[in-house]
Amino acid sequence: MVDSYKHKGRRAFLVEVLKEKGIEDPKVLEAISKVPRHFFLPSAFDDFAYKDEAFPIAANQTISQPFTVAFQSSLLEAKPGEAVLEIGTGSGYQSCVLIEMGVNLYTIERQKDLFDFSKQIFKKLRLTPKHQSFGDGYKGLPLFAPFDKILVTAASATMPKELLKQLKIGGIMVLPLGEEEQMMTKIIRKSEKEFVKQELGDCKFVPMLRDREDGQN
Ligand code: SAH
Repeated sequence: MVDSYKHKGRRAFLVEVLKEKGIEDPKVLEAISKVPRHFFLPSAFDDFAYKDEAFPIAANQTISQPFTVAFQSSLLEAKPGEAVLEIGTGSGYQSCVLIEMGVNLYTIERQKDLFDFSKQIFKKLRLTPKHQSFGDGYKGLPLFAPFDKILVTAASATMPKELLKQLKIGGIMVLPLGEEEQMMTKIIRKSEKEFVKQELGDCKFVPMLRDREDGQN
């Protein structure tokens, strides 16, 4: 797989589209201009890679729309060197955008084929998470907690309590909250017991499912 001038040009155009849609964070836009999204799609669909659209990947899952990736990444206010936990590695595209931004990424995926697929891409692009886990994201990663930031890329019907516990004081969690349709939600941990919640508009994600796909944990 190559990253040609044509791909780079399309990426630059996508960045302009995202700016027009209100994404301002220069670090997010820079990361999107660097990560070759066409590597995450089957090669026959090269032309779709830089449209601002979600795309179906393996195991009935989707690679999020670029706008969604950019919006969630901006809300996270991630800074280089911070420990960020991502729930739902999926294709690994969102992961690569965060790694490109310089964070130390910990990512969890419950489906084995996506876990394997993303692992290969991370290697190919030399964008490597600090830790990649095949497991149930509802449980978080207590061994590596607390995290500066937590990003959930699948929809949870209720607030995942285990994840709140693993957020640093002063930390931010971004997640789509709801069943059929969701509210993009930002949680700021103010103290041991106090969490402030901001609602940032409707969105639609695939559901966050309990337990690992193979039933083991
Ligand atoms: N961020 C991804 C898109 C994710 S789609 C990308 O950029 O491609 C949501 C992902 O969350 C799917 O891969 C799904 O399998 C995964 N998922 C759903 N429930 C989960 C859970 N409990 N723990 C970990 N991953 C989960």
